[in-house]
Amino acid sequence: RRKQKISTEEIIQRIIAKDKVALSQGITLIESLNPLHHAQADEIVQGCLPYANKSVRIGITGVPGVGKSTFIEAFGLLLTSLGKKVAVLAIDPSSSITKGSILGDKTRMEELVREENAFIRPSASGDSLGGVARKTRESIILCEACGFDTILVETVGVGQSETAVQSMVDFFLLLNLAGAGDELQGIKRGIMEMADAVIINKADGENIKRAHMAKLDYNRALHLFPKKPSGWTPKVSTCSAIENTGIKEIWNIINQYTTLTKENGYFDNRRQEQNQYWMMETINENILMNFYNHPEIKAMLTENKKAVQNSELSPFAAAHKILDLYFNSQAK
Ligand code: GDP
Repeated sequence: RRKQKISTEEIIQRIIAKDKVALSQGITLIESLNPLHHAQADEIVQGCLPYANKSVRIGITGVPGVGKSTFIEAFGLLLTSLGKKVAVLAIDPSSSITKGSILGDKTRMEELVREENAFIRPSASGDSLGGVARKTRESIILCEACGFDTILVETVGVGQSETAVQSMVDFFLLLNLAGAGDELQGIKRGIMEMADAVIINKADGENIKRAHMAKLDYNRALHLFPKKPSGWTPKVSTCSAIENTGIKEIWNIINQYTTLTKENGYFDNRRQEQNQYWMMETINENILMNFYNHPEIKAMLTENKKAVQNSELSPFAAAHKILDLYFNSQAK
């Protein structure tokens, strides 16, 4: 018998009925690079939207090796033991740049994967960071419609991707290590500023004392940053993902945060702002794609780059010439 194609409406209904297979199918459509899937993906996201939103979205970042996957496994298992439904999504900027992936290559979160109430999806690849981020944003909506109430968005702490994650989560957690006295120097100030909590991982064995020293340092450093609009003072905590210590405390911190920001209105306001941001980002992303994929523009760019390089044409004149061609072609 021929396999019947599953309809958009059916995918939506199954996602709402908490079917993880349908959830995967929906996300695959969102991630698809085939333009024929775009409309279907949009419809699925739209159909799931009324069932989304009832969750807490947590961003988790840190440099490779800090223990993100070990932490997420421990943290995720704590949450499922508390009756939560946990979805783990990843934004991996490396996969779009090198086509290889920092996050995805190893076997990760082996225990959490087997949990009925967990869903783990590696990063979409073959796309720009902006594209991957938008797809993760849409996937969050599908996960929530499927009943996942705690969304963990993981990213490698290497720069730009944090800003993208920041714009889709309620709470931002930075995983760090106690270094050799210079721990504060290695971290980009911007990432520290985004953090709602700094967690010093690997606080075990001989490392415990250093981890506690680092905690004091971070606390001092965080107090120098301007007050956050959320009214929240970032917290510093230590944990050992391997020994499973200090993990519950982190969940308590997040609960304190959501209680505070739901009371003062920041939680909902922020989500509304994020929705607007994503609308604008999607427009920007599509305009750029449309421009750079335009065959005549492509040819003209190559040609004019040379002319500009050889000082035959001013950069501004070249830019205007190319833009004129583009706008004229759009007006037709
Ligand atoms: P990721 O690259 O950030 O995802 O880091 P991983 O979770 O893969 O961990 C990197 C290495 O650090 C692995 O060898 C882990 O076993 C180890 N590791 C992770 N968490 C801890 C911890 O709490 N204590 C210790 N001692 N090692 C840890």
